[in-house]
Amino acid sequence: MIMPENAEYIIDTLYKSAYKAYIVGGCVRDFLLGEEPHDWDITTDARPEDVKQIFSHLKTVDTGLKHGTVTLVIEGDSFEITTYRTEGSYIKNRKPESVTFVTSLREDLKRRDFTVNAMAYNRVDGLKDYFGGKDDLKSGIIRCVGDPDQRLSEDALRIMRALRFASEKNFIIEEDTHRAMRTNSNLLKNISVERIASELSRTLMGKGVYNALKNYPEPLFEVIPELRPTYGFTQNNPHQMDDVYEHTIKSIKNSVPDLEIRLALLFHEMTSAEIAHGIMKRLKYDTSIIKNVVRLVENHSIDLIASEKTVKRRLSKFGEDFFRKLLKMKRADASATSPDTLGESLGLIQETEKIIDRVIKEGKCFSLKDLAINGNDLRVMGIPEGILIGKILEEILDGIIEGDIDNERHAIIQFLNERGDF
Ligand code: ATP
Ligand code: MG
Repeated sequence: MIMPENAEYIIDTLYKSAYKAYIVGGCVRDFLLGEEPHDWDITTDARPEDVKQIFSHLKTVDTGLKHGTVTLVIEGDSFEITTYRTEGSYIKNRKPESVTFVTSLREDLKRRDFTVNAMAYNRVDGLKDYFGGKDDLKSGIIRCVGDPDQRLSEDALRIMRALRFASEKNFIIEEDTHRAMRTNSNLLKNISVERIASELSRTLMGKGVYNALKNYPEPLFEVIPELRPTYGFTQNNPHQMDDVYEHTIKSIKNSVPDLEIRLALLFHEMTSAEIAHGIMKRLKYDTSIIKNVVRLVENHSIDLIASEKTVKRRLSKFGEDFFRKLLKMKRADASATSPDTLGESLGLIQETEKIIDRVIKEGKCFSLKDLAINGNDLRVMGIPEGILIGKILEEILDGIIEGDIDNERHAIIQFLNERGDF
């Protein structure tokens, strides 16, 4: 295992002061999987104040001294160094009442959620794996450390984390752990919506999202009960062989990894975009995400018309980015529908995308800002300020998209003169 030099340096430095230190958790897991870890966490028997002392020549941040965490910043990279600890009893299925620093690595690893997240490594001692994490990693299994019922009830966020890891890694969830997810899923009501939304988003973005949501749908239905009726509900539609839930998760699997598109697909079969709006508000998604997702849901069933006029109209209505996103959503939706209409839909989507490329490349006019004339020009021509100016500009744009007027000053002025009646 090759770890970043700076992580090696931190571990060596702690050893020189007669402490032990290991990289731990997610980075060991990802490293063994051959994936690039996003952060390198270090666990040590040194107390936070000792860590700060030992690295007093570097920049340290008191991230969570109470919980034993000091962040070290080296050459712009940050490393979280946390003292071995156990956790006291949990308040409301989430926060430990207290943490206790301990001297045994095994005790520290034992408090961690899943076996694959409960391994430590350094060059001197090699891999420390007391709970079968390496085997589970090899077999692709998410399994609680210890008794699943206890572990998932003391911190119910772990229910969402299990689902998220199953999706991100395309792993299965061990049977007892899955059973405990089901029996404890009602405890998710005690978890903050921000944490739930964050795990949900990562679940939706995972490469194993289909298997995870197919095999372990309970946490999803717990946090979004509005989706429960889609399970086992067959549509009266000859092109749709699957129940609505199956169609939904297939469409998500078929989608490019874009969170807004995947959220929109999660909600696209609901009777109204209002419901999707309510759910995302409740989960405290960003306003801009909510806005785009609701708009995608509202427009997901527009007819595909691959004509230049329609494409320009839609570019004008939606803007380029949103229109392209909508087409990607429609592609995922179509690919999850019966094969007999698929070819035609995909053809129309591709054709539409080609027209967009062409319209953009040729700099053709499809929005007010592309007009060869602006509001000020109209004012100079004596058209009174106010709503009328906007309306006339729309009318000109319309004429240009229809091909009745050229987007050129003279042609537009001539059109206005002929139109008269302001
Ligand atoms: P990623 O960084 O990809 O989200 P990760 O496993 O590193 O995955 P973090 O949230 O960064 O997840 O947590 C780091 C480590 O801390 C985990 O690997 C796990 O050992 C432990 N951990 C995190 N959250 C919990 C929790 N809720 N319960 C128990 N242990 C946890
Ligand atoms: Mg991490």
